[in-house]
Amino acid sequence: MGQADDTTAQRLRLLQREFVQPGSRGPGDGRTATQVHAPAPLNIGIVDRIRAAVYEVETHTRASAPEAGRFTGEAERVYDWARQHTAHLEPERQAVREALIYRQGLEHAIAAGDTDVVTRHPCPGCGCWGMYWDRNEGEAFCVNRYCVDDAGLSRTWSLAHIAQQHVARLKSLKSQAT
Ligand SMILES: [Zn+2]
Repeated sequence: MGQADDTTAQRLRLLQREFVQPGSRGPGDGRTATQVHAPAPLNIGIVDRIRAAVYEVETHTRASAPEAGRFTGEAERVYDWARQHTAHLEPERQAVREALIYRQGLEHAIAAGDTDVVTRHPCPGCGCWGMYWDRNEGEAFCVNRYCVDDAGLSRTWSLAHIAQQHVARLKSLKSQAT
């Protein structure tokens, strides 16, 4: 697994920059009497989301590499950290790690309002490029009217499933190329 894709880290950074500290300029030197205003509220939802994402990667890493210890760096560095500590694992386990990282990248993008990330993946069911994000359901659905379940409803996919497919597809492209 050579060139590590750092899209997920970039998206996390964006999320942090744009949504956690909106226009944070700092309150000056703190000596002035302007403290009557509470500091701009952090976006707690996003803060929690980032914390949960880091925790998930950390836990997942330690499950297969206990010697990794605790992760203490900046949130966006957790992906590099995870890859470093699991680089010795067999390819299948590394693929699971990459799918997790990729899924988080999709989640970060969607949290930042970019639901188009979903449309850039073929439907895992029919292979067509016609998936959309259903914000209420929190899953992607296929618009191909022939791609339906037994009840005749559009087939839906979780981000985890889309991520798995994506990683598997990259892997097979890579093996074809060699
Ligand atoms: Zn489909």
